[in-house]
Amino acid sequence: MNVIFLGPPGAGKGTLASRLVASTGLDHLSTGDMLREEIKNNTELGKEAKQYIDEGKLVPDTLIIDMVKQRLSHTKAGVMFDGFPRTVAQAKALDGITTIDAVINLSTTVNVVIDRIGGRRLCKQCGAVYNVSWYSKSLCEKCGGELYTRADDTEETIKKRFDVYLAETAPLIDYYRDKQLVHDIDANGDIQEKIDAISAIIESVK
Ligand SMILES: [Zn+2]
Repeated sequence: MNVIFLGPPGAGKGTLASRLVASTGLDHLSTGDMLREEIKNNTELGKEAKQYIDEGKLVPDTLIIDMVKQRLSHTKAGVMFDGFPRTVAQAKALDGITTIDAVINLSTTVNVVIDRIGGRRLCKQCGAVYNVSWYSKSLCEKCGGELYTRADDTEETIKKRFDVYLAETAPLIDYYRDKQLVHDIDANGDIQEKIDAISAIIESVK
């Protein structure tokens, strides 16, 4: 079974998905992490993706779909998609390679996102993401790398990303609502309550 996590940047998709891996048995599939890994390992796909990124262009859907397809062939129980799909075109392409059982729609407001992303710290070495609200050390617990704040995690760019997300994703949410797959979750709630609510949803569609 496959679940999609939708929500603006900073809604906590990645944190929730990674915390649900153990209890659901589903793999956490972050297309952003996968891309970084392909690039780091200098695979054919990674080299191709890097060209687009270096030119400041978006990585084309076909390339992402190929990467997702590869990854899906290695999963047993299924995956939780984080950061993909972002558009209806991508959702349709995804429907062509697998079945989606539920869509978790994390809703929040721009001010909450500003607070959350403002506290975000990334690892220089492995790209792991932390937040000062739950991780106060200055070094990565996975690899010992130094943590830093991303240059574009400013209020202005966060607002812009939020607006882009809303404009881009509204049709996507409608697309999945028509299929009766959407489950709305308030992203501002207590983390354990959110985990319990999403676990129950995943259990009910299994
Ligand atoms: Zn690290």
